Parts: sequence; C-alpha cells; structure tokens
Amino acid sequence: MADIIVLMGPQGAGKGTQAQMLAERFGLPQIATGDILREMAQGSTPLGLHVREVQAAGQLVSDEILAEIVKSRLSRGDCERGCILDGFPRTLPQAWLLESSAESLGHRITVINIEAPRETLIKRLSGRRTCSACGAIYNIYFKPSKKEGVCDLDGQPLFTRSDDNEEAIAQRLALYDEKTRPLVDYYAQSGRLHSVDGAGTPEEVFRRITAIFES
Ligand code: AMP
Repeated sequence: MADIIVLMGPQGAGKGTQAQMLAERFGLPQIATGDILREMAQGSTPLGLHVREVQAAGQLVSDEILAEIVKSRLSRGDCERGCILDGFPRTLPQAWLLESSAESLGHRITVINIEAPRETLIKRLSGRRTCSACGAIYNIYFKPSKKEGVCDLDGQPLFTRSDDNEEAIAQRLALYDEKTRPLVDYYAQSGRLHSVDGAGTPEEVFRRITAIFES
C-alpha cells in the first residue's frame, strides 16, 4: 500500500527541509502547498493577486482554493506510489478532503508532527534566506551563506520571504495554534500520528523520522 506522508508542525519546525530529505530517501514527490501558492502569486490574474495578499499577511488561503490545488496535484501519475505533503492539511476541512482523496487513491496516511520551542521557530523564520534562483535555504543564525546575501551554490541573490517579517510570523504562529494544532489530536485519535522532536541539526531530526518507518 502506498503512503501519503504528511509533515505537520508549526512554521519554522523544519517541515520543508525534512520533506525534501524524505522525498529523496523514498523517491516520492514532495508537494509543498506554500510553494505552489507562491508560484500562483507570481501571476497577475485576480487569483494570483488574491493569493499574494493573503500570503503576505500571514493568513490562510481558503479551503476551496486548496482543495482544487491538492486534488489536481494528487491525481498526477507521480503520486501513484504516494507522496510527501508539506504544509497540507492545515485545517480540519482540509484533513477531511485528504481522507477522501487518500481513500479513492488507495493510499494510507501517516503523519509526522515536528515540534520545536517557540524561540527556535522565530529565529528559524526571521533568519531564513532563500536563493532567488535555485531555492537553496540558508539561515543567518544557524546556516549563513559564505558571503552575506549571496547563494553559495550559484552566486545569485538571497531573499527574505514576504511573510517572514515579525508581524506575519506572529500571525502565522497564532493561526497554527488556532486552526492547525487541532489536527494533531485528530490524527492521534486514529493512531496515525508520530511526534518528533525538531531540535538539533536536520540530519538528527531526519534520523528520528526514518526510525519511525523502520520500527
Ligand atoms: P508555507 O510555505 O507552508 O509556510 O506556506 C506559506 C503560506 O501559504 C501560508 O502562510 C498560507 O498563506 C499559504 N498556505 C500554504 N499552505 C496552505 C494551506 N494548506 N492552507 C491555507 N493556506 C496555505
């Protein structure tokens, strides 16, 4: 049976990094709804402009828009053996949608919940810098680039995400507690939740996660 691996945890817990590592290890596609939406926000269509505003304010994009995106992405052939979901579901209606999609695809849902203290989350988010060309992620506190503001890999400029400012970070963490944290109980009740300590290096966290699949 194929697995949909859902990575949960507050912003800054390291979901994106772990999703990338898991995707490589298991040869499954990584589906990051934040990235899909950021790409949509580049367009000048009314939908693109709407998504850009919602993202910059640190708010959640509507469940209806997410349902369209996720249903069409999961129906693509590369998800036949499963996939790694990063940033979805974030609300209970999104979790219900995922149940029905997973059932119709014959996929089992496994949830990895990464937790980290709030101070760590804030430093990881406010210090995050991303390469504008290759998407490599740095952090001015934990993993600085060799030359400030420039990617080590391709020499292109690094940028700070529009929603990694102090106000949007506070808003996103509050929304996480209100809308997304209830999903932890939802998945725990059905025995599909595995919680992992998000402290330490990406490799350390990755070892904790892969141990779950080996047990
Ligand atoms: P992320 O890159 O996962 O931190 O997502 C960045 C932003 O995209 C979020 O703050 C939301 O505005 C939007 N977003 C991503 N995934 C979702 C989702 N599942 N539901 C609603 N909004 C989302």
